[in-house]
Amino acid sequence: MVKNIFLAFGLTLPLIGCVTTTSPVATTKSYIVDSKTYQATGKSERIKTIVLHYTVSDNDRSIKTLTTGKVSAHYLVLDNDDDKIYNLVPENERAWHAGDGGFAGRTILNDTSIGIEIVNAGIAPEYKDALKNGNIDYHPYEHYVAFNEWQIKKVAELVQDITTRYDISPKNIIGHSDMAPSRKIDPGAKFPWQQLYKDYGIGAWYDAADKLAFMDTNAFAAATIPELKQQFRDYGYQINNSDEWDKASRDVVYAFQLHFRPRNPTGTVDLETYAILKALNKKYADTSDFY
Ligand SMILES: [Zn+2]
Repeated sequence: MVKNIFLAFGLTLPLIGCVTTTSPVATTKSYIVDSKTYQATGKSERIKTIVLHYTVSDNDRSIKTLTTGKVSAHYLVLDNDDDKIYNLVPENERAWHAGDGGFAGRTILNDTSIGIEIVNAGIAPEYKDALKNGNIDYHPYEHYVAFNEWQIKKVAELVQDITTRYDISPKNIIGHSDMAPSRKIDPGAKFPWQQLYKDYGIGAWYDAADKLAFMDTNAFAAATIPELKQQFRDYGYQINNSDEWDKASRDVVYAFQLHFRPRNPTGTVDLETYAILKALNKKYADTSDFY
């Protein structure tokens, strides 16, 4: 092929021999990169967070959306009971899955996260319009579609693998809703975070004894809105400074409950939500790796 191209330009065969000698670019560089003599100790992985999603569509449409448009994810887990996970974007490149939002002091999470999409319908078809009549602000547990057990197993093993390779902190394994509470509710109330923690050692979960100790009615009644909001902030959530539980603030509470109290997500801070939040902050204090 090369020969033909050169012949087409009227060049003679001996010249081809010259082309294959050492490139002049390499010989004119004034330096070599020495990566052995000195090595720094102050460093960490660029990947800090794993963001889990559901696709709200079936296998075929999920594949099409995630491979032909502007949204993508590093990994796609279909709802087929086979042994495949699809890697759509190399881990060292940015996938476009996270969008606006932030968690644990980081924003622009596409820069520093791995995104995993799981095929799941999200809200069951009969409840899709449930928020439109204004009777409820948030979908309860029952409105969400369950994941298949084989999907959970695959996701868990994949997250385990990624977590080990990048040394990701438990708190930074999050749902899309955790980083964008006013825009997103995926992976939803039926994503089994507790099961992942218990069975695979993945992500963050509170200790039951801590939660029990914080189930203190008086302490909860005495906590001011700014104090409660600070607790959410301490854990990693982006929440505003307003002195009330406005919609944006309740969206954060709902996202927290989807993750840590999924059976009863309401958007309202109650005693149990307070106790779980305090228990998490006790267990995961000082785990920030933000330098
Ligand atoms: Zn998502």
